[in-house]
Amino acid sequence: MSEIMPEYEKRIHDELPYGINDKTLNQTSEINLGFKALPDEMIEHDLTDKPDFMAFLARIGREDLATIITDKTPWLYFSQEIYREKEFGIKGGGGLGVLAGDTTRVAEELGLPLVVVTPFYSEKSHQLLVNFRHTDEYETVAPEEYRFRKIGGVAVSTRVHSEVPIEIHAKKRGSTKIVTLYEPNIGPLYPGSPSSDHRLYQEIVNGFGGYQAIKEAGLKPPVMQMNEAPTVFAAIARLDDLCSQNTNLYNALDQVKKLVIYTNHTLVPAVEGEFSIEQFEHFVMPNIKSQDVINWIYEQFNGRDKIKLSSLAIELSLKKNGVSKLHAAVSSQSYHDKTGGSVKFEAVTNGISSHWISPEFINEYHKIGALDEFNLPTEDYAEALDSLDAQTLLDIKKSNRANMNKILAGRKDQYGNPVNIPETAKLFDFKRRFVSYKRAKMIFHDIDRLAGIVDKNDAHVIFSGKPHSSDIPMIDELNQLFLAIDNNPILKERVHYIQDYDEAVGLALSTGSDCAINVPVVGEEACGTSWMKDIANGKLLISTEDGGVADVIPPVYLDVRGSNYEEEADILYNRMQEACDILSDGENLKNQVAKQLKAYLPIISGSRMIADYLDLRFERTKQ
Ligand SMILES: *Cc1c(COP(=O)(O)O)cnc(C)c1O
Repeated sequence: MSEIMPEYEKRIHDELPYGINDKTLNQTSEINLGFKALPDEMIEHDLTDKPDFMAFLARIGREDLATIITDKTPWLYFSQEIYREKEFGIKGGGGLGVLAGDTTRVAEELGLPLVVVTPFYSEKSHQLLVNFRHTDEYETVAPEEYRFRKIGGVAVSTRVHSEVPIEIHAKKRGSTKIVTLYEPNIGPLYPGSPSSDHRLYQEIVNGFGGYQAIKEAGLKPPVMQMNEAPTVFAAIARLDDLCSQNTNLYNALDQVKKLVIYTNHTLVPAVEGEFSIEQFEHFVMPNIKSQDVINWIYEQFNGRDKIKLSSLAIELSLKKNGVSKLHAAVSSQSYHDKTGGSVKFEAVTNGISSHWISPEFINEYHKIGALDEFNLPTEDYAEALDSLDAQTLLDIKKSNRANMNKILAGRKDQYGNPVNIPETAKLFDFKRRFVSYKRAKMIFHDIDRLAGIVDKNDAHVIFSGKPHSSDIPMIDELNQLFLAIDNNPILKERVHYIQDYDEAVGLALSTGSDCAINVPVVGEEACGTSWMKDIANGKLLISTEDGGVADVIPPVYLDVRGSNYEEEADILYNRMQEACDILSDGENLKNQVAKQLKAYLPIISGSRMIADYLDLRFERTKQ
């Protein structure tokens, strides 16, 4: 490979080729392939309040699905990433994992029978700043530590290892089951480049291994949702299974396409990884029995020597979706099928679970009649929001600020110290992965101007978010920001970076800050969900018109737009001052918060998202 391998991946390749070592190989004989069903005794957390899925189906007018989605025929969801560290020990990298985690949370709340298949990563990363420089620390973890139960094993193959044993661990929470694939050298989430051997190895483990696990558990799902293209090997496993049972390739393709929803989170194919024929021959082909399927895969390379997994996902799914209106439109233009024809991505905008909304706000939305028992907006939610009262809003915000400070007391800023923001101070936050297009640096474009605004308004800025371990330009950029902040006596006191951004920091800032800053390059954010957490928690939003934010036009938030970066930065500072003015006046704040909620509450609702996915897979019959 011509690219320079980052340290971690190099280590895997040197010591643990393809995640397999002698230790795992010797376990083959112990692995029992014969599990029949996901046993009910693996309940780790049965919900005391058993949600009534039938009532939800009735609420959304989909009683017809009552016999289609059941415990034996659940909604099946494949994801390389799920972010619910506390419950599953699995940390995601960002929005994709948060979406998968929220899908499980909302399914639990609604009683939706859902099975999620995902790898259990044997190493979990934590950010540690050393002299203002980002580093990753890895901690070894195993499913047993998170009360998963080992329910059996499967095997995948590579060209050099005919049988790589993979353990299957599972856990049930209410109506949902998490099936996770593990072997001690599966490695961390997203090692090295998206085109690396190790990624492909992890992807075949989840796809081929996960498919076998579901089959052996006797489940017959009426849908397979692929949360992003790297899970496509599960669809290929299904195709191979059908062809190996004498279904002809074209019938099998037809059946698989009907089953699969391909949920895309990527804007343009250019930023995706791609794999060579040689990599496929090493990791993919050895897992396929049917020569017809192997030939079909070769055809998909279309005369090239590399392929993007989205090309396979496009060919194997009838229903495809983007995760916001804008994203669906952009993907529909930038992706093509094998013949160069256009591909239609429908829009199912992401939603979030009530987990991200402070209980006080959720109670208030129920009390005023904006949300119903399913956390769906009521028919007259907009009028209901008119009765939101300024004093209640301020009281809830005060309590959320105190909770935020409790969480931040256990975390470190860029100097290694805990952070406490006074109740009376105004607080801006920027919390998201530290990648170029999200543009954290815009806040620091004019250091003196920023210092002037925070000083004059008694404001603080908290930012948090990790660069990827191989993204050296962004690691350097973060380091430069720390130096610039350190050089300014005002910013040094008022700008805080919280190390190791994770769900706890996300929740703390979503609830306890006053104003969120979200300024991705327009057209580059697929949806984003952190801004939803902000709006739902009665905060102000400063944003570019991008991702799911652009589902609502014209803007009802403090929008940032300009013909170039300088202009956008200038407007950002104006908006920060405007936000401070709004925050100084309770009534004004309430009006702005209500306006944002009226526009976005239906979008934010995770239950609305689930209903949309049900409709995407099972079209409503016309009345
Ligand atoms: C909500 C959340 C995200 C999603 O962030 P976006 O940038 O809005 O996509 C990512 N990571 C964590 C830890 C979160 O809590």
